[in-house]
Amino acid sequence: MTEPLFRDDAYLREAEAIVSSVESGGIILNRTVFYPQGGGQPGDRGELILDDGSLLAVVNTTYAADRAAILHNLAEGSAPPAPGARVVARIDWDLRFKRMRAHTALHLLTAVLPYPVTGGAVGDGEGRLDFDSGEAALDKAEIAEKLNALIAKDATVRMRWISDDEFAANPGLVKTMSVKPPTGTGRVRLVEIEGIDLQPCGGTHVRRTGEIGQATVTGIEKKGRLNRRVRIALSQSAA
Ligand SMILES: [Zn+2]
Repeated sequence: MTEPLFRDDAYLREAEAIVSSVESGGIILNRTVFYPQGGGQPGDRGELILDDGSLLAVVNTTYAADRAAILHNLAEGSAPPAPGARVVARIDWDLRFKRMRAHTALHLLTAVLPYPVTGGAVGDGEGRLDFDSGEAALDKAEIAEKLNALIAKDATVRMRWISDDEFAANPGLVKTMSVKPPTGTGRVRLVEIEGIDLQPCGGTHVRRTGEIGQATVTGIEKKGRLNRRVRIALSQSAA
């Protein structure tokens, strides 16, 4: 299995690691800072730096079938390092930080629009969520104003873990019906935005909402009679 270093510290840009195995789908390391595609967030890109200084581009990161190991997908034609080799795994931080800001902004959006979430995606400085908002009239300017007010609070984002049993006893914690938080390891990670939002999530987030920067609502689309897709975009750089 791969130790997911990003789970405890999303701000780690690189880490030393050992190649555990080389699979057809990619390189498995004993530990990594690379976030694997999942929960609506794309897999990280970056590079593996070998002992001789040569670089291997990682074009995507995915879970292996067992969900315990993480595959660093290499560009086609690259020669993989041998098992046991030491590498430095380094993510494309600019890209990741854009995703962390967008991901955290989507948490805030669920506080602005307190409806069940049926789908979503984190992009590079933008994102979307689908809401079962019923007959509610959604207004772009009003949503953006409320979202930016929450960002401006510069609230602290914290993680804490609860047991699977505790989680099962609190079904109200789940806002996103389409993305089940991973259970079965005995514990579930909760992401708390102080005074604003609390939900289980395995993604990467910024430490304070002020890091998100200015948000705009770029679209509200009708996905079903009672379902709306809300798209947001963030300013180029964080505030
Ligand atoms: Zn999250």
